[in-house]
Amino acid sequence: MSKQTNQQQLDKIKADIIKDNVCPDLAKTATQLVFATGNPEAEIVFIGEAPGKNEDEQGIPFVGAAGKFFDQMLAMIGLKRQDVYITNIVKYRPPGNRDPLPDEKTVFLPYLEAQLKVIKPKLIVTLGRHSLSCFLPQLQISQCHGQPKRYHDQIFLPLFHPAAALYNGAMRQTIIDDFVTIPSIIKLIK
Ligand code: URA
Repeated sequence: MSKQTNQQQLDKIKADIIKDNVCPDLAKTATQLVFATGNPEAEIVFIGEAPGKNEDEQGIPFVGAAGKFFDQMLAMIGLKRQDVYITNIVKYRPPGNRDPLPDEKTVFLPYLEAQLKVIKPKLIVTLGRHSLSCFLPQLQISQCHGQPKRYHDQIFLPLFHPAAALYNGAMRQTIIDDFVTIPSIIKLIK
């Protein structure tokens, strides 16, 4: 039997989330599942928290105000959305944009891990503390942002969430300064 493409394997994970009835309460209040966008063969995977209102409506991660800022930062390093893979831990919008609950992160984590196993990125960029805590729970984002970390033979770059720049102007430059180091980190990874 011929090997499935990354896209086919990712489509199967998306279908599994629905088949397995993951987080039925969130699924009930959300418009749709927001699985991921971008390149299934990407070297870089970005992981946010959960969809917001715009993402819930469009079915695509990071398309609201934080997403616009994210796209600007991608452009600063010469990349487009189609060059990278973008997803969230929790794949349904929490009502009223509340933070994802620990249980919600826990039940979605195996699907996120399955996505990463298919893509095998060189670099995983965690956006915000929720995403960081799924992989490196002992670290504080305020202490480790912008510093690449190796864990289980995978390189992670913890970044503040781009939404933080929207309500804290001083944070904007910090996020940009961290983000633009991505190409030099990629170059160092074999
Ligand atoms: N914030 C996130 O963490 N993810 C999105 O998709 C949008 C906003």
